[in-house]
Amino acid sequence: MKRRNLFVLVGTILPVLALAAAPDRPASPAEYQVLAHDLFAELVGLDTTHAVGSAKAVEALAARFRAAGFADGDIWTGGPRPDKMNIVVRLRGRGKAKAVLFNSHLDVVEATRDTWSFEPFALTEKNGWYYGRGAIDVKNEVAIISANLIRMKREGQVPDGDVIAFFNTDEEAGGDANGVEWMVAEHRDVIDAGLVINGDAGKVLSLAGKPLWNTLQTSEKAYATYELTANGAGGHSSLPRRDNTIARLARALVKIDAYQFPVRLGETSRDYLRAMQPRATSAEAAAIARLLGAPSDTAALDTLRDNAVINAQLHSTCPVTLVSGGQSESALPMRAVATLQCRLLPDEKADAVVAAFVRVIDDPSIAVKATWGPLSSPAEHLDPAVTRVVETITGAFWPGIPVVPVMSQGASDNVYFRRGGFHTYGVSGTVVDEEDLRAHGRDERVGVARFYDSLEFNYRLMRALSGAR
Ligand SMILES: [Zn+2]
Repeated sequence: MKRRNLFVLVGTILPVLALAAAPDRPASPAEYQVLAHDLFAELVGLDTTHAVGSAKAVEALAARFRAAGFADGDIWTGGPRPDKMNIVVRLRGRGKAKAVLFNSHLDVVEATRDTWSFEPFALTEKNGWYYGRGAIDVKNEVAIISANLIRMKREGQVPDGDVIAFFNTDEEAGGDANGVEWMVAEHRDVIDAGLVINGDAGKVLSLAGKPLWNTLQTSEKAYATYELTANGAGGHSSLPRRDNTIARLARALVKIDAYQFPVRLGETSRDYLRAMQPRATSAEAAAIARLLGAPSDTAALDTLRDNAVINAQLHSTCPVTLVSGGQSESALPMRAVATLQCRLLPDEKADAVVAAFVRVIDDPSIAVKATWGPLSSPAEHLDPAVTRVVETITGAFWPGIPVVPVMSQGASDNVYFRRGGFHTYGVSGTVVDEEDLRAHGRDERVGVARFYDSLEFNYRLMRALSGAR
């Protein structure tokens, strides 16, 4: 049954490949485009949401790698639970360099058929797009990395160091058995590498149909949540007092809202801001120039505060996201609570954040406490040995577009690699439209031609970074 399905897929893909082959860009040989498509369709067809787990995807991939001639000893599978499995596959090198590891996650967020135009757990091709849950986040990368590791093997390429493909479970929210965290803690020897490339972070951003730049993720902000609490004695609402807890909390929140964490610009943020200047308004561009010269320029920071994307790159942010208080319409509130949801710069110290809140609020009756995190990771420095390779390959596909280092505002698995001391970058060579980001959304999709561009992009990256000959 399975074989027949695959044969049908191969039969239907060939005309598409002719369309997908862009004459001005490098392309993988047709057999590896078919292989990548096949793997992609198989993976999207498997429900790997948090509730189901990743075991079936791991089995399917292990079978593929065994069939491609990888020895049993080079295919490692395991996880903290039978439903939450990870797979690590190794292409042996000469042992002259440290391994290069390519990572992406197997799990996807939920998708319900009634909210989609297509079956989410099947790969559908329509009008130049592949639709399906995980089409861009990030089964496309799992298929691409797998196809390229198999290609390297079939071509008899022997890299200086091993090339490792590591596909993990439970990256997405709701997961409770994150595979990268678990592998770093429990089986570091299996994934140890001198360099990690994560295809889940770093995309080619396209604006109005034109590729703008290729992002190289070097760092990410840390998620942390704090709670402010005002407690009071309560009493009858007919006898109000000056120390109303809700009013006290409100005064504290007004101060917190006005407070701006200091601007601190690392190597990545500086390069990113320079790249953003031509896209910003003239007032914003001037403000960026002033901050690059003097990060303490508060007027410049104020100018950029309404550009949420730029503002997030400049400093830690902690907006209030929840508030509750009071127990009855006719009673003085005994308690009022607010939640501050922070995204902290990689090197922000948790103690310093609490100290800043206490200082700014300046009301000892308001209690400040951390309720989650931060899980911080150090920023990766811009290693020319990596950036030059990414720039050269980017230039072969999209001549003239820059490679721009980025700090993610959200979290990826790179936090666990970087906390574990791995040199880690996010880059994929997959084009996404800035105005149409569908990861986690309905009708998630990747462009057909973009998928095959990314396939060849990743192959060249794999060869260059591993010193394959
Ligand atoms: Zn993802």
